Formats: sequence, structure tokens, C-alpha cells
Amino acid sequence: MTDETINIEGAVCAPPLPHGEQIVMGHGAGGRMSHQLIQKAFMSVFDNPALKSGDDAALVVPEHGKLSISTDAHVVFPLFFPGGDIGKLAVCGTVNDVAMLGAKPLYLTAGFILEEGLPMETLKLVVASMKSAADEAGVQIVAGDTKVVQRGKADGLYITTAGVGVVREGVNIGGAQAKVGDVVILSGSIGDHGIAVLGARGELGFESTIQSDVAPLNHLIDAMLDASNNVHVLRDPTRGGLATTLNEIAVQSNVGISLEEQSIPVHPEVNAACEMLGFDALYVANEGKLVAIVAKEDAEKVLSAMKQTRYGEGAIIIGEVTAEPKSRVLLKTALGSTRIVDMLAGEMLPRIC
Ligand code: MG
Repeated sequence: MTDETINIEGAVCAPPLPHGEQIVMGHGAGGRMSHQLIQKAFMSVFDNPALKSGDDAALVVPEHGKLSISTDAHVVFPLFFPGGDIGKLAVCGTVNDVAMLGAKPLYLTAGFILEEGLPMETLKLVVASMKSAADEAGVQIVAGDTKVVQRGKADGLYITTAGVGVVREGVNIGGAQAKVGDVVILSGSIGDHGIAVLGARGELGFESTIQSDVAPLNHLIDAMLDASNNVHVLRDPTRGGLATTLNEIAVQSNVGISLEEQSIPVHPEVNAACEMLGFDALYVANEGKLVAIVAKEDAEKVLSAMKQTRYGEGAIIIGEVTAEPKSRVLLKTALGSTRIVDMLAGEMLPRIC
């Protein structure tokens, strides 16, 4: 794959230029080389006053209200996959987690673990992708750290991110807020990210056009919260998939959740891949989808607000919150039977986010 071009937006992404500049141990030694790397690779791209100050921490002016804070580590393999890359994943993952409490994400920090020998060109593409995702989300990357580890001790590049946002006034969103009678809304089709990464590893056994759904969801959430004060729960079904996320919410809120299998959108290619590999799409990771639990009377308002946004076009009601069975998720199948949907037990897809 070394002679293919890297295309951050697009389909095929491959390891870059074989003979270009590479990360060496000296880049992590804290001296002149480290400073040059930080200046060239990060500061000039992320470029904002808090970062440029060059102090040990970023100084930012707090807004009123409550803060939403989250952190994440990203270890995806391969680094580039259809629809995204580790950089976009790192920014979107943290932006989304911060936003899921009804917060406006403002600032991110990023830690880079670089493997000796990593082509500088790869780092540049990842950083550019982070910048572009941060711009789309409207957040600034205001602090960071870089460490270099010896060849063979990492898979090219790991990224950890932390994010902070300000919660909207009057908003009280959380996993424990689901109420009996609420409806469950899903923002679009499930399983795209997990299957896209698997496809990029050549493990599908067929040519797939599935793209990762990785995207910042904060503007979608803004539209939902503009439309209704009765959004009770928001969560992104990432690792563990929709099934695991809904189980978490059912436990936190001590309610039952009943789903209609037929209403859950799954791309036909994702379905085919799942059937072939013995996966259940309900457990496959998503990186640009959210589940919302909303008061029934506001469901249509929220749904129509979602559909007018880029990442909510496929929004649909997939179920409801019930009094019983407590802490359980039930699925009414297409054949008319009902089965319990449990949490993901153990590992399904390694290293996907
Ligand atoms: Mg999350």
C-alpha cells in the first residue's frame, strides 16, 4: 500500500512517503529537536493564543455555569481508514463526550505518543485532520504533550485527548434521567465505524464502500437543545455499540428500554459484513452517532430539528422507555418475538477507536 496516496476525507488511505523525514528518539528528548517538532508539527497548525503562550498549562477564561470534562485515549489500527483517521477520531471522540451532557465544547488538549521511525508526513496529515475536525466543531486545541518511544513499542502513533465545555444554562442531561414513557431516538445507521476499520485491515473478505461515521456531533446537539428542554439523556454509542450504551442507560435510570428491531437503521453492507463475521450490528462501534432519550411530547420536534442537520438526517425513533423489566433492554424482532439485549461480553473488535 506504500505507493497509494493518502486522502484524509476519502476512501483509501495508506502509509506515506517511504523516504521522508521520520520521528527519531531525539524528538522526544525535551531539547532543541523536541521544540522544533512542537513548533513545526503542532503549534503552527493548532495556532491559538492559549497554546502559543508556551507556558506549562493553557490559561483560559471561564464562562459561567457548569463544566463538562472528558478524556479519551486513541489506539486505532490502521491509523487511516475510510472516512477518517486517528486524528479526526481523537478530536471527535472527546468533543462528542463533552457535548453529551448538553455542553458546548470549548477546549481540547492532546497528548501524542510517537513511535521512532514514524514518517513526519504521517504526523502532518494526522495533525491537519485534527485541526480540520476541531474547526468544524468550533473548539481549540490549547495544550499538548509529545513523547517518543522506541521503534516497535507503539503502532506509529497514539493520541490521548481531554476536553472541556460549558453546560447550557438550565440543562440537566445524564444517563440517570430517562423517564418511563420517553422515546429513544437514534441519529442514524449503526455499525459503520467498526466495519470501516475492519475493511481497512482487509479483514472483511470483500470490497466494501462503508465509511466510518466519525464526526463531531455538538452542532447536532445544539439543534436538539434549541428545539426542546425535554432531552433527558444523550450518549454516543461508541465501543460496545448501541446495545451496550442502552444497557448502561437502563441501569443508570433503573428503567427498561424496549426497541423495535425493524426501525434500527443498518447499512446493507454492514449487515452483510456482520452476518459473514458473526457479529451483531447492535454491538459494533459508532463514532458519529448519538442516542437521545426524550420526553414523548417533544419527540417530533427534536426529530425534525435533527433531520435538518448534517449528522442527524437519518434520525429515527427506535423504541421507548418502560417501567419493567428494570435495567434491561428488550428487542422486539422483525419476526415478532422479544429477546433480551445484553451488554457486550468481552472483546469483539480490537483497536477500533
Ligand atoms: Mg461517549
